[in-house]
Amino acid sequence: MSLIVHKYGGTSMGSIERIKNVARRIAKWQKAGYQVVVVPSAMSGETNRLLGLAREISDRADPRELDQIASTGEQVSVGLLAIALQAIGVKAKSYTGWQVPVTTNSAYTKARIESIDDARVRRDLAEGAVVVITGFQGIDAHQNITTLGRGGSDTSAVAVAAALKADECLIYTDVDGVYTTDPRIVPEAKRLEKVTFEEMLEMASLGSKVLQIRSVEFAGKYKVKTRVLSSLTDPEMPLAEEAASGTLITYEEDETMEQAVISGIAFNRDEAKITVAGVPDRPGIAYKILGPVAEANIDVDMIIQNVSHDGQTDFSFTVHRNELDKALDVLKSKVQGEIQAKAITGAKDICKVSVVGIGMRSHVGIASQMFETLAKEGINIQMISTSEIKISVVIDDKYMELAVRALHKAFGLES
Ligand code: ADP
Ligand code: ASP
Ligand code: MG
Repeated sequence: MSLIVHKYGGTSMGSIERIKNVARRIAKWQKAGYQVVVVPSAMSGETNRLLGLAREISDRADPRELDQIASTGEQVSVGLLAIALQAIGVKAKSYTGWQVPVTTNSAYTKARIESIDDARVRRDLAEGAVVVITGFQGIDAHQNITTLGRGGSDTSAVAVAAALKADECLIYTDVDGVYTTDPRIVPEAKRLEKVTFEEMLEMASLGSKVLQIRSVEFAGKYKVKTRVLSSLTDPEMPLAEEAASGTLITYEEDETMEQAVISGIAFNRDEAKITVAGVPDRPGIAYKILGPVAEANIDVDMIIQNVSHDGQTDFSFTVHRNELDKALDVLKSKVQGEIQAKAITGAKDICKVSVVGIGMRSHVGIASQMFETLAKEGINIQMISTSEIKISVVIDDKYMELAVRALHKAFGLES
């Protein structure tokens, strides 16, 4: 018997009416002979609401307690969905992460899944039940509830699919697939029939929030057949049509795939730029600046060191916006005096825009086409980084939408 995992995001679970539709869709799959495990998110807005309550008390709340609170959104969702299934005659049972259990490390608010015990789930499936498991959460070795980072239900679903060796993981969301860029920013964006795992990994890591990056990593590691599709279609639509809709993540470069040079444009507003100005241009300076930042467990993304004048240079890098204050504290207390930097400043008015495509490997001139397009729009590039299949630039935040639209057009991605 085929086993399938369905994941429903916040919008898909956003109201009682929508939850009833999700139940009807699941019932259709079960009737067609599938064993179904469902991983829903909290109802849309709920995780923000819960974390907002905590923030009303303190903006430096204990991350353990934040997870304790944030995880409850999904607990409500699984219960409601199980009731909606039972109400239409489908046997269903819901579990939280700790009941399964989904075991994670102890990194509160960004925990990583370590293992999933499938015994209970398999027993229920064998008894003909649909099993509904909370997304976004797990439990650490000391019985503390953890969460997997925002958007983490995607990762829960793919990890559950990997643990159960499911035939496919279907990520139902409020768009009907992965697009060349966020269709909310560029309405002309085109849906991709298929996207290679490597491209999806880059797009997710560069800001396309349609899938959480860890879910893509899991999918790649365990070769989980994963598809992104709409939850907003008629739940009674023919199953074969639904099963072939959306965007499939592929693991081999298939000859028949149209080999677009660029398959997508991603953008990210979550970073901030730090500049350490007037530092001596000599060996060891990058280490002296970034060593303490790394020790404080702060991830650094793009880095640039400017040319030196009179033996001095400026050194800039980006970090997640949430960690800007922490990074500035570290630099001011541990670095500034030590290296005699003239000034240390942080800026949040930046964004990162990236073009992604495996076709870049066999094409030259993509970078210059990107830079020319931005130049024509009068957009200044502050930082650049490249890999084999992507080029990213940091620009002024206020030009983000303009840059994404211009690049989308310049690379011929419009439908
Ligand atoms: P869910 O609640 O189902 O997890 P998300 O809001 O996390 O949904 O992700 C879906 C959203 O991702 C879409 O509504 C869309 O605005 C956004 N998105 C960003 N980049 C892309 C892209 N390249 N293709 C499709 N959607 C994208
Ligand atoms: N509810 C969580 C969030 O809002 C997880 C998810 O939706 O995937 O981030
Ligand atoms: Mg999501």
